[in-house]
Amino acid sequence: MGDGARKTTDAVAEAFDVVIVGGGPAGLSAALNLARARASVLVIDAGRPRNAATLRSHGFLTRDGTSPIELRKLARAELTVYPSVRVLDRSQVTVLSRMDAADGMRFRATVQSHRVGPPAVVSARSALISTGLRETLPEIPSLRAFYGMTVFSCAACDAWELQDRPLALIGETPDLPTRARLIARWTDDLTVFTNGADVVDAVEEAELAASGIVVERRRVDDLEGDHGTVSGVRLEGGTRIAIAGGFVRPRWDPALDFIAGLDVDRDRDGHLVVDRSGRTSIPGLYGAGDAAAPGPQQVIVAAGQGARTAAVLIHDMVGVRTAH
Ligand SMILES: Cc1cc2nc3c(=O)[nH]c(=O)nc-3n(C[C@H](O)[C@H](O)[C@H](O)COP(=O)(O)OP(=O)(O)OC[C@H]3O[C@@H](n4cnc5c(N)ncnc54)[C@H](O)[C@@H]3O)c2cc1C
Repeated sequence: MGDGARKTTDAVAEAFDVVIVGGGPAGLSAALNLARARASVLVIDAGRPRNAATLRSHGFLTRDGTSPIELRKLARAELTVYPSVRVLDRSQVTVLSRMDAADGMRFRATVQSHRVGPPAVVSARSALISTGLRETLPEIPSLRAFYGMTVFSCAACDAWELQDRPLALIGETPDLPTRARLIARWTDDLTVFTNGADVVDAVEEAELAASGIVVERRRVDDLEGDHGTVSGVRLEGGTRIAIAGGFVRPRWDPALDFIAGLDVDRDRDGHLVVDRSGRTSIPGLYGAGDAAAPGPQQVIVAAGQGARTAAVLIHDMVGVRTAH
């Protein structure tokens, strides 16, 4: 630890204390705290953050309403103060594997840059996976055009701006009733659209109805509206229901193909299983942010997990056991 980014001469071109895969709030927060603990760190980031669709990010203390791009820019600027951190932009880790080198290097990452050329290989004593989630939206033609503008996925992040309007909740998963009850906190005019999926049973529908929430089971033909402002849901058969905003339940996939060869514990949705400090089932391998936990999926939570994991990683490196 503390010896900066070292060059080596063998097939593994460079070696670091920690390689961080994914430079979102979780990865950048971990990098900052690891750098301050004098670790050499390589952050590798493909540059496709989950919240790229939205113009404003809410709920981060001192940065409520800041654009996600600006947040990343500020975080990256802070890292430039620390010489032991390097960031590889627009680069993807295609394989993360274990190694057992005499010098303590335990992980090897194959990195494909956006530039044409052969992949680079780096090694590290520890690795942190903070690659976020990949989202698949229900197949509704214009949904993308409204997503991040007036249709969102996270009530805690964006419901404040939509409060007291007629809202939609669109999804095809069995957690719709739970989500609907949450969103009803911000409006008393909520319609749940199942898009033809059989995911709300009669008992749940009756419970929702008792709270004034309508369930619409017909397929959604498309959303209507203009310039990102949604104004209606058009159902098969032509019925139109007016709305002034909404939420969608995407399907989430941690997209961890690059660790297919690692025998690490994952939950049934594919998230990394970590302890409360971000340790996975493999010594030296950590997870933070949306890739590691079922939620809450929020920027400040991801950043907090990154910071906590960084602290624990340093303790593990030194070999001290603490209350963490
Ligand atoms: C539309 C929308 C609006 C949102 N609004 C808010 C909000 O207002 N407030 C809020 O708190 N949260 C909001 N969120 C949630 C928030 O975006 C996430 O909780 C947060 O970004 C999670 O951070 P992360 O670091 O775990 O992952 P991410 O921010 O997704 O970052 C992961 C990074 O890893 C990179 N990556 C992935 N795979 C690889 C690989 N193999 N190699 C290298 N790099 C890789 C990705 O390109 C990405 O840059 C919103 C989400 C969406 C979709």
